[in-house]
Amino acid sequence: MAITALTFDLDDTLWDNRPVLERAEAGHYQWLSDALADSSPEVGHAFITHYPLHAYQQHRLDVARRFPLKRGDFTWVRERALFEMVEAYGLPRLRARLWAAHAIAHFLDLRHDLTPYPGVVAMLDTLRQRYRIAAITNGNADLKRLDLAEHFSAMIAAGELHAPKPDPRAFLAALARLGAQPSQGLHVGDSWREDVLPAQRLGMQVAWIDAKNEAPHDLPPGVHRLTHVRELPALLTRLTS
Ligand SMILES: [Mg+2]
Repeated sequence: MAITALTFDLDDTLWDNRPVLERAEAGHYQWLSDALADSSPEVGHAFITHYPLHAYQQHRLDVARRFPLKRGDFTWVRERALFEMVEAYGLPRLRARLWAAHAIAHFLDLRHDLTPYPGVVAMLDTLRQRYRIAAITNGNADLKRLDLAEHFSAMIAAGELHAPKPDPRAFLAALARLGAQPSQGLHVGDSWREDVLPAQRLGMQVAWIDAKNEAPHDLPPGVHRLTHVRELPALLTRLTS
């Protein structure tokens, strides 16, 4: 059946996400510690000395264990962890909630300070003339904040749906929004576990962005290995000719 719908993973598919997350992770946490030192000198010692970054990361794992239904919503888990830590640090509950919310706003600012791979915007612009396009992400990137929303007919924030990939519901929701059967869809993503396997099992075709060069895998039927998303238009030409 002809491909009419494309679904895209975002992080590490349309841009290099590791440096973005490293900057956002360290940046918002330092910002919070500095802000607390300025506003609450009575509490004393620096927040980040008392709770170094690795303690925050551990605390997020603990929050995810205690709130299993919310664990796919990374932004919620971050905010909850910060709230609990700031309260334990000695601030009243309401102020702890406010500081956590401020820090998350700062995290999201930093998290959207990114540049798609060269050529991605032009590629999407061309593809959308022929295909209906959706994004499916487990992360917290907001296409509207990246000036990319106009290229996508649908955006599935799978973590917030409590059905993060590899849960097939995220893919089915995207296909439904695009009015396509799985056999009419091609998913583009970098993760073997979260992108390739679930999409392939639904009967979609898959463009696997194997940027880390994990090949050779035995590629199941319908899975096509690319090393960069820029190779996608040539693949689509091969599949449709
Ligand atoms: Mg990815």
